[in-house]
Amino acid sequence: MFADPSAKYTKQYQRVALPDRQWPDREIEKAPTWSSVDLRDGNQALPSPMSVVQKRNYFDMLKQIGFKDIEIGFPSASQPDFDFVRSLADSHAIPDDMRVGVLSQMNEDQISRTIESVRGIKNPTIHLYLGTSEQFRKIVLHKTKKEIVEMVLAGVEMVRRKTADMKGQNWGLEFSPEHFTQSDMKDVVKICNEVVKAWRPTKDRPLIINLPATVEVCTPNVYADMIEWFCRHVENRENVVVSVHPHNDRGTGVAAAEMAMLAGADRVEGCLFGGGERTGNADPMILALNMYVQGVAPNLDFSKMEEIISTYEDCTGMKVPPRYPYAGELVSMAFSGSHQDAVNKALAALQGEKWDVPYIPMDPNDIGRSRDGIIGVNSQSGKGGVAFVMEQNFGLKLPKEIQKDFAQIVQPATEEKGGVLSPKQLWDLFEATYLNDPSAAIRYVSHEICGKDKSQKVDLTLQVGEQEVRISGTGNGVVEATIDAFKGKVDVDFFQQNAMGTGTNAKAAAFASLAVKTDEESVFGVGIDEDTAAAPIKAVISGVNRAVKKGRLTLVDLGL
Ligand SMILES: [Zn+2]
Repeated sequence: MFADPSAKYTKQYQRVALPDRQWPDREIEKAPTWSSVDLRDGNQALPSPMSVVQKRNYFDMLKQIGFKDIEIGFPSASQPDFDFVRSLADSHAIPDDMRVGVLSQMNEDQISRTIESVRGIKNPTIHLYLGTSEQFRKIVLHKTKKEIVEMVLAGVEMVRRKTADMKGQNWGLEFSPEHFTQSDMKDVVKICNEVVKAWRPTKDRPLIINLPATVEVCTPNVYADMIEWFCRHVENRENVVVSVHPHNDRGTGVAAAEMAMLAGADRVEGCLFGGGERTGNADPMILALNMYVQGVAPNLDFSKMEEIISTYEDCTGMKVPPRYPYAGELVSMAFSGSHQDAVNKALAALQGEKWDVPYIPMDPNDIGRSRDGIIGVNSQSGKGGVAFVMEQNFGLKLPKEIQKDFAQIVQPATEEKGGVLSPKQLWDLFEATYLNDPSAAIRYVSHEICGKDKSQKVDLTLQVGEQEVRISGTGNGVVEATIDAFKGKVDVDFFQQNAMGTGTNAKAAAFASLAVKTDEESVFGVGIDEDTAAAPIKAVISGVNRAVKKGRLTLVDLGL
């Protein structure tokens, strides 16, 4: 049993007083600057960090998605990171409109090496950080508040001095008060205002103040209050880029990022698919698509989601879970019968560009996926879902009578497979049931028809076991004539023929419900053929075969 938690844990944050908070009434109306920290925070947290080649593939993907701000490594801490940053610089892989960040600790050697790594890059940001929470200051750094301020200013001064003579590069500074949410806001704003004074930011000399939820310790509204409070108290606000870096320890990193955007954050750092230390960072893909489905342009492009997932998985060795927002393979699939029915109706009623489909917030086409996958077939799927997949994927419109029959075959098959049937698996099941059962007793070989309309004669050549057998029948139309050839052991109680597909690939699909005279129960058969006369013959043979398989008719009954 759980022990009393209050004996062990206590709140790790202090709320700021903000009775006139503005953020709750705002809406997200424009995209922030998205900063990917996949190649630094994300990479450092991988059980097997990326190679230089993998990092380059990942970088190219981020560029293609549209990130204009990418943290590319921690070059003073790792030789592979240094080599990677140099390789980007030397191969001119970084476009002129992109800013790239490199993380550095505060000592002189590390800052020198960090600056060396980005020599020649047009828009480099040197990212300094220092823990500002009381916990970190006392337990890890053993510094007074005054000493912390001095350390930060010394670091900023080193960057300023060492980059002063490096012309042609648009140097930016980023400072992160690490453990921001666990810090005293008054201390943080004091340190940051000193940094503002020391760096003297302008539009061409940016200063990013990044406020991380290094560990997520509070609800997103508490974080938003801190961000709004900070925005009100930081000096030279118009020239300071307020950035957030929410981790996801409580599972609310995305919500924290969104509320922080409402509270004034100009820039959001994050990792795709929630990469990063422990539970990872807020995911810019989710944030961007949350905006997109509200009709707000996110300025990131996820239209090639499959490629993005595959590059991500190849480079990181991680997997995107099937229920992951937007990207998971199951998220735009409706399984339950009532959901499928509603989705079917809404898809049929769609007009123009507007998307208005219950249960499915985003058109799968927008991320490069087919709408065909919306209806998944599992044991909960009704006949409507089965019919939808058959029509969407194969152009085969099943009459209601057959839908019900086939659904009864699909249900145990999904249960047996313990999950979902793909459209292909569903087709294979349909084919093995009605069209080409490998265990069928009777096989169609060929036919000839003479006479017409009310008195047609059908000569059939069939394969029965090892033997080829010829039988004939007459009747009102091909269906009756075929039944007559089988000694009239069945009656037709339903027959329908549709076109399947269009143009030169069109085929005839015939559906027959046959009442077996020995037990008065119906059996369904389906025949598909390019020849419109062969399709109904095959439908009757299909039904007869199914009755034989179930032991309701014998070959002797049929005169075979
Ligand atoms: Zn982080």
